[in-house]
Amino acid sequence: MPAREAPTDLTGRALAEPAASADLARLDEVRVRWLGKKGVLTEQLKSLGALPVAERPAAGARINEAKVAVQTAIDARRAELEAGEIKQKLTAGRIDVTLPGRGEEPGGLHPVTRARLRIEQLFRDVGFTVAQGPEIEDDFHNFTALNHPPDHPARALHDTFYIEKGDAPDGALLRTHTSPVQIRSLRAAGGRLPLAVIAPGRVYRVDSDATHTPMFHQVEGLLVDTDVSFANLKSILHGFMEAFFERDLAMRLRPSYFPFVEPGAEVDITCVECGGKGCRLCKHTGWIEVLGCGMVHPNVLRSCEVDPEHYSGYAFGMGIDRLAMLRYGVNDLRLFFESDLRFLRQFRGG
Ligand SMILES: [Zn+2]
Repeated sequence: MPAREAPTDLTGRALAEPAASADLARLDEVRVRWLGKKGVLTEQLKSLGALPVAERPAAGARINEAKVAVQTAIDARRAELEAGEIKQKLTAGRIDVTLPGRGEEPGGLHPVTRARLRIEQLFRDVGFTVAQGPEIEDDFHNFTALNHPPDHPARALHDTFYIEKGDAPDGALLRTHTSPVQIRSLRAAGGRLPLAVIAPGRVYRVDSDATHTPMFHQVEGLLVDTDVSFANLKSILHGFMEAFFERDLAMRLRPSYFPFVEPGAEVDITCVECGGKGCRLCKHTGWIEVLGCGMVHPNVLRSCEVDPEHYSGYAFGMGIDRLAMLRYGVNDLRLFFESDLRFLRQFRGG
């Protein structure tokens, strides 16, 4: 039988190992090595039978003392390690009540929404109501009823997103302007005139650069009554522009062509950047174009069963995004739609 270390020598080593265990897993290895089923001290007890009978009680007592001592050392070290782990967990999860809170940041309205609400309010103040229409339109409301007969060249100017057959009724498209809401509102009025509406909303065209995005926002205005004049149109637009930009502005109208008005005009105002002196924004003309307008074409009134001999009206359409860019001094339209919080947060307050 091989020579064995005396239990007392073993005890010295067995007592040193728990203290040197860096964590609970190592400590358990120590326990298995010394006290496990095949542990050193367990084996010692098993081999007592090989000793002379006279020596067995004393040897057995020493081994048992060693086992108790080792178990005590292991228990002490386990308590130490467990306390350390708890402390570590408590420290890691500690809440420093003096830190600033992580509460919700106050949100803010998108600048385009701000501009839209401002436009709506200004027109409500002078008696207009706000109308809505579908973004998926049909050919009749987007074109035909607005005096764009089939094969009319103006249709080609719109870069329309058509919806493929099979997905939608024939002629379905994403509206290219908010003007179809004129048609829907006039037809819904069923001859109960006068009518004064604005229709803000999203419109879609196949176009994308610094000043065009495939989706953008327009607001349409329509007033139909007896004896509506071009002077009424000019007056309401001028009043609106000065109110929207909160300053005195000169305004001029240039003759232009839109199929659904006659006569039609494009409207320029004093450049809001340079006040008319000339700058890059206004291409050194002192003027910036802000909208298109005109007197409602008799064909449009007829398509809505309104008698053009008795009624007349004006209509205008402007880009909400463009007005927001001008009001807030934003030079790239795409910034509005990239959802970059660093940009959007600047509008949170006002
Ligand atoms: Zn300018």
